[in-house]
Amino acid sequence: MAHDLVPHPRYENPEPGCEVTVEGDITKQHATDVVYAYYDIYTDQLLTCRKCERKFYFFAKEQKYWYEELGFWVDARCVHCFECRLTMHKVKRLQKEYERLQKLKAPTQSEVKRFRVVAKTLIKIGCMKDKRKIDKLG
Ligand SMILES: [Zn+2]
Repeated sequence: MAHDLVPHPRYENPEPGCEVTVEGDITKQHATDVVYAYYDIYTDQLLTCRKCERKFYFFAKEQKYWYEELGFWVDARCVHCFECRLTMHKVKRLQKEYERLQKLKAPTQSEVKRFRVVAKTLIKIGCMKDKRKIDKLG
C-alpha cells in the first residue's frame, strides 16, 4: 500500500505496477573498469531501509540525479530511506559543528550558547553520551 511507504518531498510514490522509468545517459555516469554496469534506463525501485526497516522507493529520477548530476559511482547503492538519510546528514552537521566549537580557545557568549544547544541535541538523539562535556565550555 502506497501510504505505508516512507514519503519523499520531491517525488511521489507510484501505485504498485506504475513504477516510473527514465532513460539513462551513460556518458554522464561514472563506473570503474571492474564494475562495468551503466544504466540505460532507471526504474523506480522498492527497497527496505537498513536503519528503520520501512519500505521506500529509490526513484528513477532520483537515481538519474545521483549517477548523472551528483557524480556518484554507478555501483553506489541506496540503502537508507529519505528520512533516515536526512537525519544522518543533520547528525553529521551537528557533530562537525560540535567539534569546531569545542576547539575554540576563547569562545564568545553566543558560541558557548550554541555549543550547549548542539551538545544537548546530540545527547537527545543518542549520538553523544557524556553530559559532562557540555560544561567544558563556560
Ligand atoms: Zn529509514
